[in-house]
Amino acid sequence: MRKNILSIVILVFASCSSLRKLPKEHYYEFLYYFNREIKNDTISFHLKNPLKCPVNVKLVKDSLNPNIENLFGHITLRELQDTVISFKYRDFNQANETKYIVKYGDLNKKILKNQVSYPFPKGKEYKIIQGYNGNFTHNTLISQYAIDFDLKIGDTITSADSGYVVGLIEDYKDYGTSKKWLKNDKSNYITIYHPQSGIFTQYVHLNHKGSLVKLGDFVVKGQAIAISGMTGFTTTPHLHFNAKIPTVEHGLISTKIEFESGVKGEDLKKKDRVK
Ligand SMILES: [Zn+2]
Repeated sequence: MRKNILSIVILVFASCSSLRKLPKEHYYEFLYYFNREIKNDTISFHLKNPLKCPVNVKLVKDSLNPNIENLFGHITLRELQDTVISFKYRDFNQANETKYIVKYGDLNKKILKNQVSYPFPKGKEYKIIQGYNGNFTHNTLISQYAIDFDLKIGDTITSADSGYVVGLIEDYKDYGTSKKWLKNDKSNYITIYHPQSGIFTQYVHLNHKGSLVKLGDFVVKGQAIAISGMTGFTTTPHLHFNAKIPTVEHGLISTKIEFESGVKGEDLKKKDRVK
């Protein structure tokens, strides 16, 4: 009997440790400026892109103004563009705030893929924990071509190619393994835009305050950009590396990538070692 009580206590203890509390805070990759102004029969939107990459902006349906989302489709703003666009709108109902969606990328830019370097320093060797189409978490449009490398907490992450830092979250501290954590993205990560290829790369699960760069910085291929960690939904310390391209429907989606030395992303399988 005593043994049973002891094992129950151990069980309760073990399950508590996996029920980590989801942080209440929500941090954003960047802050965007959007302002609506109405004068007589004209409605104007002031849009400012704070990033060194193109973004596309879309209005969202409004119950009081059912046609507002048709005022414009996807408007592409080039890097740092600051613009005002105006429309005649006679019966605009001001009671609702105008909602909008900003997504990364210029949907008309041709993607010109080039070989990238591994997201860690030359001379280091790491093991693949999960590759393309991994059934644990690499199974959606957003993640299907991501690769998990077994970086330890404190290891250095480098940029896979040259480009601009266009997204940065580094204030989360914790991680969890429950569904709640899977559904709510609470991991630290950096997004870099590579103007030559049109591709975006993301480096996920960074340490708390683990960024070595700032929003807007230009980084060269191989430059140290962050310290690896264990934040967000994860069961073990690692780096989730993902290359992405913009789409109309889904924003950035995962895309295949080839590394220098000709290794293709799809050739990297679980337990392979790379350097
Ligand atoms: Zn992953």
